[in-house]
Amino acid sequence: MVNPFILATAFIFGACIGSFLNVCISRIPASESIIHPGSRCPACRHPIRFYDNIPVISYLWLRGKCRNCGQSISPRYPLVEILTGTMAALLLVYFGPTVNAVVYFLLVCALIIIIYIDLDHQIIPDIISLPGILIGFLASFILDELTYIDSIIGMFLGGGMLFAIACGYYLITRKEGMGGGDIKLLAMIGAFLGWKGVFFTIFIASVTGTLAGVLLMLFAEKSLKFAIPFGPFLSIGAIAYLFLGPQLIAWYFYGIYPF
Ligand SMILES: [Zn+2]
Repeated sequence: MVNPFILATAFIFGACIGSFLNVCISRIPASESIIHPGSRCPACRHPIRFYDNIPVISYLWLRGKCRNCGQSISPRYPLVEILTGTMAALLLVYFGPTVNAVVYFLLVCALIIIIYIDLDHQIIPDIISLPGILIGFLASFILDELTYIDSIIGMFLGGGMLFAIACGYYLITRKEGMGGGDIKLLAMIGAFLGWKGVFFTIFIASVTGTLAGVLLMLFAEKSLKFAIPFGPFLSIGAIAYLFLGPQLIAWYFYGIYPF
């Protein structure tokens, strides 16, 4: 069991990074700098004072409103901070104070940015996925679980499989279903997690994506025509692999009971 004080520190550290991820999520699609200027109110653009910019706490203290203009601020800001803080604490519990925890935290941060940008704009920014492919490959020289060969196979398998699906879909329907962003995202996931991670990620993404699609068809307005972005489901699949993948694979293929 990890010391609760260290765990709380990991959560607070993660929540601060989450605050930065919020900046990335809102500014990268608009091609704005993520460093300058500092945080601003999304409604009135008034600079946010440092004491109003404490993750989660400021949001609660100000009751979700801008101190300057009084406009409501989306609860998504504190949610992303809580999510990132929780992931930091979970990774620390799961991997201990190791380089693995740091590498996988980088991956999770990239995935959180991608989830929300893809939900908002139906794009996956190259500025996250392309450097991510390189970082995943370089990480294979540090991680014990991943050889650089496995990373390269994962990269090409991930990108290649979605590329093949996209080509097939286009040939049949003459419409573009899957974007190039998904292809690069799964190549990045493959570079970090290897070929087993790619298969696991596609499996989880297909199951959760289909489930979400069915729920939307049942409960959303019929007239609504929506395209469900695939990036968030691929990201959820990759995060699930981090915590459960190797155990579930061992259980399914070798009968080793995971828990
Ligand atoms: Zn404001």
